[in-house]
Formats: sequence, C-alpha cells, structure tokens
Amino acid sequence: MLSSILSLLQSLFYPHYCPGCGTEVRGKGVLCDSCRRGIWHPRALQPLSLDCLHLDGLFFLMDYAGGIQKALQMAKFQGREDLLPRLAEEWKQGTLREKKFHWQLGPEVRLAAAGIPTDPGRRKKRGYDLPEEIFQPWCRQEGYRWETLLVRNRPTRPQYGLAPEERKKNIKGCFTLTRQENLPDIVLLCEQRCLRLIQISKCMHSRKNRI
Ligand SMILES: [Zn+2]
Repeated sequence: MLSSILSLLQSLFYPHYCPGCGTEVRGKGVLCDSCRRGIWHPRALQPLSLDCLHLDGLFFLMDYAGGIQKALQMAKFQGREDLLPRLAEEWKQGTLREKKFHWQLGPEVRLAAAGIPTDPGRRKKRGYDLPEEIFQPWCRQEGYRWETLLVRNRPTRPQYGLAPEERKKNIKGCFTLTRQENLPDIVLLCEQRCLRLIQISKCMHSRKNRI
C-alpha cells in the first residue's frame, strides 16, 4: 500500500518519459510497452558460431536498438543516473518473463556474476559503473553472488566509434583475473549492451589469467 502511494507520488512529481518515443511511462521500467515490443528479442546464442571459443553461452534480452540503445547511451554519456534503476528493472522483469534465463543448477555448482570492468578513469568521471548498477539488483533477487573477478591492466580507448577490428585490438588482453584460486564453476559476465549475459566457465580455468 505504502509503496503504491509512493510510486504514485513519484510519477506525479517526477514523471518518466520513454527514451524511445517520449510517451510517459507509468511502470518501473525504462521503456513504454510499445518500444519494448519493438526490440524484445530474448535469445541464447552458440558462441562457436560467433568465433568466441572461450565462452559457453551468450544470452541477449533485447536488440541493441531504439529506446534501449538511447537509454544506455544517455546513462553512459549524459550522466542520466536516474535511468539506472529503470534499466535494472527492465533486466529483472525481462529475465523473469523469459524461460531461457532460468537455469537449474545443483547446490554443488558455484556460480558467480561479474561485471566487465569499465576503464577506471571513465568510471570515476561517470560516478557509477553500468554493469554493476544494472545487474546487481537482479543478482540479489536470484541469490547470485556478485564478485569482482576482472580488472583492467592497462587503459583503453573508448570502444564507441571504433570499427569492429579496432575494437578487438583495443581491448585484447586488457583484462586480468583478480585471483587464480577458488574460481567459481560458472561465471556470468554481465555486459549492458543489448542487456546481455555472457556465460563463461571453461575459459576461466583453461586460460591462465587472461580472457
Ligand atoms: Zn516508447
């Protein structure tokens, strides 16, 4: 009751407008229903077909287009911190609706989620880290442990505006594991573009300390 009154007051005083089309959004998500429908595309991809030999799965919730692309760019480049809880809500609600994101794991499987770390300089300037802000609320809901498993070992150029080959070159070998021992069996690497998860397990164990 109290939360519904609070959300009513919130929408009266701080209305939120869909980044895709500009209409007012009543719920907690970032997009209106119509814009969400336009880019809704949950899927699990086989990484072998994408030349990602060290990954076990890639899970996307939406296409990187329309309102979600705008919202992520606004949060990333325009300091729109207010969009972060709404982006987190899109992911949380989206994964609840989508069966591909429901994994049956035994209690012996050690699973952890980790963000792909932002360049420290850009993180400091921005004041927040997008993967953490978007995916940690979902981890709390699902009971997944969030761990800092990767760090950047050198500065990189922003990926934005680079050609695909330059992007690969820019980040090649720039991440290092924070520890070598006692690694989780499955790591869900969280990356905000397309609201996607990268399930990675073999690589953590088969490649010494870099991915
Ligand atoms: Zn819209």
